[in-house]
Amino acid sequence: MLLDKHKKNFKKNKKTYKKFLKKFDDKYVPEIAKFAAEAEKKAWAKVDCLDCGNCCKKMTPTFIDADIKRISKHLKMTEAAFKKKWIEREEPEPDGTQGDLINKSRPCQFLNLEDNKCSIYEVRPADCAEFPHFQKKTFEDQNETYMQNLKFCPATYEFVKKVKKLVEKEYDW
Ligand code: SF4
Ligand code: SF4
Repeated sequence: MLLDKHKKNFKKNKKTYKKFLKKFDDKYVPEIAKFAAEAEKKAWAKVDCLDCGNCCKKMTPTFIDADIKRISKHLKMTEAAFKKKWIEREEPEPDGTQGDLINKSRPCQFLNLEDNKCSIYEVRPADCAEFPHFQKKTFEDQNETYMQNLKFCPATYEFVKKVKKLVEKEYDW
């Protein structure tokens, strides 16, 4: 239900929202942190992740060494066995930078599809704990991330929708 509605909204408004977000490359809004905090509250009042689970179904976290150490210990596995069973390295970047460690498959092996709960919630990767990155950096440093996440994440969609309203009320955007 939530995801069906989100899919329709995204299809209808994706160009508008992406265009709005792109402008943060050139424009500065002094009150953006205040607007983002208000929008975050609004987004979480409207969206319950347990009705969704889409990030765990359609995307993959990146795993850093500390995640692998913590999760494999929790699962009573060796780090090597954990890596072999569940994760792989992405292709290198065009500049030769090593690719990230990601899940081999989707949905994530740790997602319970019955109730959208994470079976390793207390020790989940830091990337999962920070998703959808509303507080990680300043809004304008995250605009590209929000553009990518709009498609899958209803909370990001609601967040951007509210930020857009607040910005456009004050600024000629
Ligand atoms: S580890 Fe947990 S929170 Fe992270 S993608 Fe998998 S199920 Fe989701
Ligand atoms: S963070 Fe976004 S995509 Fe993930 S479960 Fe919550 S609303 Fe869905």
